[in-house]
Amino acid sequence: MTVNIKCNYTIEIPNCNMETLTAAFRKVLILFLRDFVLVILNKFATEYMNQKIKPFKCKKCGNNEEFIWKTRRTKNTKITTIFGDIILGQMQVQCKNCGKKLYITRKLLEIAPRKSMSEGTKKILALLGSLTSFRISEKILKMVGVAINKMKVWRCVQEVGAEIGFDLDPKESARGEADGTGIPIQGIKKRGRELKVFIQEKIGAECA
Ligand SMILES: [Zn+2]
Repeated sequence: MTVNIKCNYTIEIPNCNMETLTAAFRKVLILFLRDFVLVILNKFATEYMNQKIKPFKCKKCGNNEEFIWKTRRTKNTKITTIFGDIILGQMQVQCKNCGKKLYITRKLLEIAPRKSMSEGTKKILALLGSLTSFRISEKILKMVGVAINKMKVWRCVQEVGAEIGFDLDPKESARGEADGTGIPIQGIKKRGRELKVFIQEKIGAECA
């Protein structure tokens, strides 16, 4: 799909030095992202509504063909992105079969109800949180103009950590290499702890 996006922002700017311009750009960036998302979502939603089979279905009766528009922008929902939070008015359609209304914004964005961000964003924040302390993560994000607090980074680390499996794969080779590596741990007197790492060899590949 080709999308034509026109920007129009009014900004108060006291001078034109690079620091001021960068600071102003950070503020515009998140506004632009919100508008960018809204324009593209609307385009796709319009196209889907013209298609016979929709990429969503009625929760009540299962219909995925006959819907009418209710509104293009209603109840707000907040989505956290790697550029910060954006607030989107949700698009709502109504099932022609049973009359049930449904919000389609999150379905099209592929972000589950009540989840604040996409899986990709969660993984990026979790990686950041695992590379440095949560406090520093928040500082790094702030430096690039992103207002995401350390507790949000902490939650991402917990969620992604809980999903990672550390088992051996029975389909791969019964060989591997082991070593120990130092892991810095926040809040303890010693500099860190040693973590034993085992790398399983894949069939057809040799350990480097
Ligand atoms: Zn229905």
